Amino acid sequence: MTTSPYEGQEIWFLTGSQHLYGEETLTQVADQSRQIAQRLDAAGEIPLPIVWKPVLTDAESIRRLCLEATASDSCAGVIVWMHTFSPAKMWIAGLSALDRPVLHLHTQYNLSLPWSSIDMHFMNLNQAAHGDREFAHIEARVGVQRKIVAGHATDPRVVRRVAAWTRAAAGRQAARTLRLARFGDNMREVAVTEGDKVEAQLRFGYSVNTYGVNDLVEVVDAVQDKEAAELAAEYVESYDVVPSLRPGGIRHDSLLYAARLELGLRTFLTDGGFTAFTTNFEDLGGLRQLPGIAVQRLMADGYGFGGEGDWKTAALLRTMKVMGAGLPGGTTFMEDYTYHLGPGAPRILGAHMLEVCPSVAAARPRCEIHALSIGNREDPVRLVFDAAPGPALVVGLADLGDRFRLTANAVDVVAPSQPLPQLPVARAVWKPRPSLAESAESWLLAGAPHHTVLSSAVDHETLSDFAAMAGVELLTIDEHTTPEQLAKEIRWNAAYHRLAQAL
Ligand code: MN
Repeated sequence: MTTSPYEGQEIWFLTGSQHLYGEETLTQVADQSRQIAQRLDAAGEIPLPIVWKPVLTDAESIRRLCLEATASDSCAGVIVWMHTFSPAKMWIAGLSALDRPVLHLHTQYNLSLPWSSIDMHFMNLNQAAHGDREFAHIEARVGVQRKIVAGHATDPRVVRRVAAWTRAAAGRQAARTLRLARFGDNMREVAVTEGDKVEAQLRFGYSVNTYGVNDLVEVVDAVQDKEAAELAAEYVESYDVVPSLRPGGIRHDSLLYAARLELGLRTFLTDGGFTAFTTNFEDLGGLRQLPGIAVQRLMADGYGFGGEGDWKTAALLRTMKVMGAGLPGGTTFMEDYTYHLGPGAPRILGAHMLEVCPSVAAARPRCEIHALSIGNREDPVRLVFDAAPGPALVVGLADLGDRFRLTANAVDVVAPSQPLPQLPVARAVWKPRPSLAESAESWLLAGAPHHTVLSSAVDHETLSDFAAMAGVELLTIDEHTTPEQLAKEIRWNAAYHRLAQAL
């Protein structure tokens, strides 16, 4: 995947008004709303183009545009603003037909009131203060899921909130078109990696299908020796590769096979239009190594991945890769592995058998080879590094049987207290908020998974906007959380989500 996940995607900017005001006023409405759309379009923080649409003044044109947005492959969402007063019964048919995320921008063209010159013409031109209230009433009445952002278009808070929603809308589009290849089933007897794939497609759009691992083996074995050698040479350029794996080293053949694995996986995923995948160490068929560096580099290119057949985490990782595209920081598959309970602040050491994405690395990774005690195959090649310090989110997706639940923990990734010379895998050390004990008690209350996505790129607002768009519960554990309060929230949410389900 070399192209941006935002390629070909855009946000439509809709302005509501009515015929009552006459041509001159409507011309001003059009001119001013176009300027606001252009201002948002020019904001570097907002990753998608904001495309202005002609002012809407009657029910039929509103319905027509909402149908166009819904039919468009490029429209990821709509921003709506009532510059003047747009009697909202005109919006019922359109909003009922609209199947795209909505952001209601409650703004006005002018920042200040022209106190000494204000007259009734000005009042009639700038009446979003009540025009948007009329529109918001019908949004509430129709039951439109929407984000509301209030303020002037020059306010950094407005731009930040619009940007977060735009990223979430792009994530929603990516989820709706996501195709995931599972190589083998999930790990035997494990509960949390199970789930309802049909419900996942209904709710998120994830299309999840299984392939025999030997379908992949065929593609891997068909890779030309020359191509594998070229990629292995790229590894030697890009990472600190241990001497035994280098050309002439006694284990160079393992590096060549790791490169072959990456090329085979890339071909399989590209040919099938897949943006996420899973592997399972229990089901490796004719693969000589459990894919390590191959998975790590594919994640760095934006693919979603889950170990042990964990398709839910793989799909979530791909969705979050899209939401965080182009931002500083990284996003990776992760697993809570082991604890430091003291002295000092308790910390979690997260890692996996091999598969942590180098987008979170603090420095140039080392490329190493070590034995793997499970899987019964040759020693796998992997990238080893520490994750960069800074704030991050740890996010898990669980299937509760009747619905999905997202759980997020705000954490602070820290440098390891000491070097970890004997640990042969990439890792992250973090302090969960509000504390390890309260975070862990809350996470366990939520029944949230041990496989997660760790991201220092995607912020909580973006994740929250995505959850709202998908209609999925999001439990958040942060500096304000107590386990007692979260237990109540879980009970309330259970009641809400059962009531919100259609009979
Ligand atoms: Mn695992």
